[in-house]
Amino acid sequence: MSATENHEALLARRDRVLSPSYRLFYEEPLHVVRAEGVWIYDAGGRRYLDAYNNVPVAGHCHPYIVGAIARQAAILNTHTRYLSERPVELAERLLATMPSAMGSVILTNSGSEANDLAIRISRTVTGGTGVIVTDCAYHGTSDLLQGMSPVTGLPTGPDVFTIAVPLAMRDVGEFATLVEDALDRMRDAGVKPAALLVDTIFGSDGAIAEPAGFLKGAVEAIHGAGGLFIADEVQPGFGRTGAGMWGFQRHDVTPDFATMGKPMGNGHPVASLVTTREIAEAFTRHQRYFNTFGGNTVSCAAALATMDVIEREGLIENAAQTGTYLGQGLQSLVDRYEILTGLRGAGLFRGVQTVSGDIATRIVNGLRRAGVLIGSAGRGNAALKVRPPLSITRTEVDFLLESFDRILRDEPGY
Ligand code: PMP
Repeated sequence: MSATENHEALLARRDRVLSPSYRLFYEEPLHVVRAEGVWIYDAGGRRYLDAYNNVPVAGHCHPYIVGAIARQAAILNTHTRYLSERPVELAERLLATMPSAMGSVILTNSGSEANDLAIRISRTVTGGTGVIVTDCAYHGTSDLLQGMSPVTGLPTGPDVFTIAVPLAMRDVGEFATLVEDALDRMRDAGVKPAALLVDTIFGSDGAIAEPAGFLKGAVEAIHGAGGLFIADEVQPGFGRTGAGMWGFQRHDVTPDFATMGKPMGNGHPVASLVTTREIAEAFTRHQRYFNTFGGNTVSCAAALATMDVIEREGLIENAAQTGTYLGQGLQSLVDRYEILTGLRGAGLFRGVQTVSGDIATRIVNGLRRAGVLIGSAGRGNAALKVRPPLSITRTEVDFLLESFDRILRDEPGY
């Protein structure tokens, strides 16, 4: 069978057995077989620069992390109802990266589970139900969280209030004003606030990072109304912004909850919710929590090894430095091509605004043909999302920028 026949046969088999609710990326779907560092290889042996997946934060199949997973899988893999070293060590390591007020960890398997639990705890301990999210937010797959993820196009859930976050913030106080307005609407509707839930890099809103500090007034507003602040760190967490481990640090705030997932195990499923001791104790007076696979020994080993690599390889510094280099290169493209209208983001999470969703889609597919993988997000899917592994080098960034420049120059009709 030729490579093309093989590809077609696999597509047909996939269509027969996997739910049509799954969608493949790209006009010409990519059949991937292996990956290493920032590169992902297709069935024909061609390599692509992966500047889309923010899960393999240390690079795909990092040997140190793979080794840690394999070794732990051969020794012990069980759950948190036994006393064992790994979950305790992981909780200690996570808390050491957090403000001192954060003192309690719950381990889960996905960002969705962590956010779902954060909402449940907020509603339990505040006695309120109202939740504020942004109008292009994505927070997870559960029924509850789909109602808090307007980017899906589904109706928002009961007692969910949205705010339209501007792509370019006027000043550091603008976001707080929007949150206060949502709190007023909540009051008018007779709903008691429970939480403000935001992704601290606003990834699905199109990577809104400036001015740093704009969350501060918003956190004060939700606290003033008796609600809690949930920092969704699934996208920015583990160093992506280049300004510390967590996105909320850029805004100089201490959240009541930090939820995290995706990059936490560099590809192995492991996620978490971190909160204050006080909130954890208040919740435990009402309810218990157990999650069979959340905090299993192998997932903890994966997360610990990922944290080791982030530290030893200086990945946060690289996110800052190579992220600045990437930002400068993208800005020069924005300056030269009219269809690119702005650059946002921080570190190695960049959003390039284009004039339309159609143009963004064409660029994403053009870059895929040129050997670079990126995605799109934001209102009308008109922003390009660039999120390479934090191990990316300047040479690899140059390949990304040159490919981007070439497709804009060569493809007619841009
Ligand atoms: N929050 C944000 C900001 C996300 O981007 C995602 C996943 N795209 C989630 C939560 C949900 O995480 P998971 O897919 O691991 O459940």
